[in-house]
Amino acid sequence: CGIIGYTGTDESVVDVLMTGLSGLEYRGYDSAGLAVSNSSLAIHKREGEVTALEAAIADERLEGTSGIGHTRWSTHGPPSDENAHPHTDCVDSIAVVHNGIIENYRTLRSELEADGHEFDSETDTEVIPHLIKAARAEGAGCEEAFRQAIRRLEGSYAVAAVFSGGETVYAARHESPLILGIGDEGYYLASDAPAFIEYTDRVVYLEDGQFARVDPTGYVVTDPRGAVVDTAVETIEWDP
Ligand code: GLU
Repeated sequence: CGIIGYTGTDESVVDVLMTGLSGLEYRGYDSAGLAVSNSSLAIHKREGEVTALEAAIADERLEGTSGIGHTRWSTHGPPSDENAHPHTDCVDSIAVVHNGIIENYRTLRSELEADGHEFDSETDTEVIPHLIKAARAEGAGCEEAFRQAIRRLEGSYAVAAVFSGGETVYAARHESPLILGIGDEGYYLASDAPAFIEYTDRVVYLEDGQFARVDPTGYVVTDPRGAVVDTAVETIEWDP
């Protein structure tokens, strides 16, 4: 299981995401998927190998400057196309990938369903885009809505999210790994370095409770209260 996020000037976001997913295969998975943000969100996901996803998008023209991808190791809901990530808010304005387990998802889901949210999957993850949507409906901006949603979660997570029409990728972690890669052609978020080592060996190791925001012009890491954190950029020794 793993996540990859990218934003930048690379001509093919899809190539970056697919390279990322291949680099994460060693962690084990049962499904794979991706979302590319443009004026709308293009989302493709498949149970099975990364090659099944590759076949599904072979004829698609997926253009954009940012996107997220996921290899899933099911914990809630069996492997299926519907349960594969990214998950959305039904109208496909928010796409989310997640590694880990949301322990309180039943409570959150009941609350959201009582408020009229409809769910497409059996996963714990799907509460996240719906929580973001609910916060947006209350007037929160994208970043604040993401933070509010994350604050409701109990359990373990590395999460990345993109919004339709946006170039920013939002991420957060708690008891699941997440690193930020700094490249010449953009910024990468991933569970582990093999996902983007082809592009850069400069990384920031995010800590539990931290949030990251990347767009083609830069990155910002914040603590749970939203204060900007000074980060150390490290160069990873890599001997493929
Ligand atoms: N708990 C989530 C699911 O079952 C994420 C699993 C993972 O870490 O890949 O979909």
